[in-house]
Amino acid sequence: MVATMRDPAAGLPPAPYLLTPGPLNTSAAVKAAMLRDWGSRDEEFREMTGCLRSRLLDLAGNSDGTLDCVPLQGSGTYVVEAMLGSLIPRNGRALVLVNGAYGRRIVEILRYLGRDFQVIDRGDYRPPRGFDVDMALGRDPEITHVVAVHCETSSGILNPIEDIAAAVSKHGRSLLIDSMSAFGALPTESGALPFDALAASANKCLESVPGIGFVIARKSVLEAARSNCHSLSLDLHAQWTGLNRTRQWRFTPPTHVVAALLQALEEHRDEGGVDGRYRRYTRNRDALVGAMRRLGFETLLPDAWLSPIIVSFLNPQHPGFTFERFYTLMKDRGYVLYPGKLTEADTFRMGCIGRLDDSVMLGAAASAGEALAEMGVPDGRPASAALAERNALAECQ
Ligand SMILES: *Cc1c(COP(=O)(O)O)cnc(C)c1O
Repeated sequence: MVATMRDPAAGLPPAPYLLTPGPLNTSAAVKAAMLRDWGSRDEEFREMTGCLRSRLLDLAGNSDGTLDCVPLQGSGTYVVEAMLGSLIPRNGRALVLVNGAYGRRIVEILRYLGRDFQVIDRGDYRPPRGFDVDMALGRDPEITHVVAVHCETSSGILNPIEDIAAAVSKHGRSLLIDSMSAFGALPTESGALPFDALAASANKCLESVPGIGFVIARKSVLEAARSNCHSLSLDLHAQWTGLNRTRQWRFTPPTHVVAALLQALEEHRDEGGVDGRYRRYTRNRDALVGAMRRLGFETLLPDAWLSPIIVSFLNPQHPGFTFERFYTLMKDRGYVLYPGKLTEADTFRMGCIGRLDDSVMLGAAASAGEALAEMGVPDGRPASAALAERNALAECQ
């Protein structure tokens, strides 16, 4: 049993379980780690920063010492923007693999940055495949970078990142990964998954508080990134060289957030690292999906594409169901859900990540049953057309 916010031993007021893609429930110890102040230029904090960088690097399997970790203030989007703006030169051309809102956000960032790009858009919830990438790169030798989303959090789909990486590597191009909602729970060992850089943040699978992101990148790529960036504060090359030279952040660091993340990384290690976390999240997902299906709910995605991170459920077809009312009834019972973020299908989402275990997921599903009853909705069954589309998806490659 994982300690949760409702753990009476934690001595904290009751708070809802956040079944969301982040920020998430954090442990009492992670919150407690923030109960003191640090001087940003002080030696103690410099050591904390160094420790943070090396612990994060360990998670990416830096066995040959070719990678480095550059932390950055801000939410996840800030580090994605820093990665794209710093690592893609102004005369580069990107291929962006889009299958949801976070892929579209990458496109929007590249537009702001004025970088040349092409898009493979697979709609809201079909995965981009290695052979699509292989073909696109074969056709266009000018493409310098491929940008991929690891787990597309808007549908919960787990993209086949190993296949994509193999195709990029075959063509000798550079792979940049938005691994925001995967890093820490899904393998990103650089040996098995060749990438030039990946971006992630503290408040998803690492189960810490929001306010910090980081890029793990090849040192050679960081070295080559001098004066690419459009922005002073998002310049990864400058942040990297500054940290290496002075062991200090260039601008006010989120000191308490660094302390919390160090504690969260301890807990990650105690749980068995990436494998341990993957196993708990998988148990959470299986408990949730099983119990929701017993109520008639159905997942947007076929089983093979379900991530252990977050699950999209099709809205029930019964006219008595509205997400707003369902949300309120669930919140009253202590569970915060997430609306869907898709253009093609009516869905809502339930996250499996954060400091929670399968008993919480079963409690959430039981509450979903009560909420349906209160709305006068007999079961969670979606419209048969939506289900037919899901089943057709399962058959396509
Ligand atoms: C959460 C997330 C981000 C970053 O979102 P922020 O709201 O800026 O933290 C980026 N990409 C993916 C895939 C995510 O899940």
